[in-house]
Amino acid sequence: MDNDVLLTIGRTKTIALIAHDQKKPLLIEWCKQNKELLEKHNLCGTGTTARMISDKTGLNVMGYNSGPLGGDQQIGAKVVEGKIDLIIFFSDPLTPQPHDPDVKALMRIAQVYDIPIAVNKATADFLITSKFMVKDYNHTVIDFNHNIEERSKAL
Ligand code: PGA
Repeated sequence: MDNDVLLTIGRTKTIALIAHDQKKPLLIEWCKQNKELLEKHNLCGTGTTARMISDKTGLNVMGYNSGPLGGDQQIGAKVVEGKIDLIIFFSDPLTPQPHDPDVKALMRIAQVYDIPIAVNKATADFLITSKFMVKDYNHTVIDFNHNIEERSKAL
């Protein structure tokens, strides 16, 4: 379609790691189990999650702000810039979060840009064992320049 642009998620990926507090032990354990694979990629995450994973697994995880202080929004902005390829987000569906709007915004923007996002361990297991983890993945996303041009004419 005219409105779409073909993008490639490269073989080496930038992976964002996020876990709500109750899920942090689960994500740390998951990172330990998948350390060999994860260390082949560039890792980042919300502040506390990134620090804890680095400390407890030895993986190099670049930390943004803490989630409740805007870390999820920073990661969302990187998705928009095409700088994050995959998100592992162990969210907690049973505990109210002060930054719930930010969490929803991140999930939404991952959908908009067709970025794989796992919100539980099973999905993360399926993602990390996908054949696309070791090769390029081509996908089409909305061409936002074209979108702005069309909207500015039509509205
Ligand atoms: P944190 O943020 O890694 O700083 O705890 C995660 C979140 O709650 O979104």
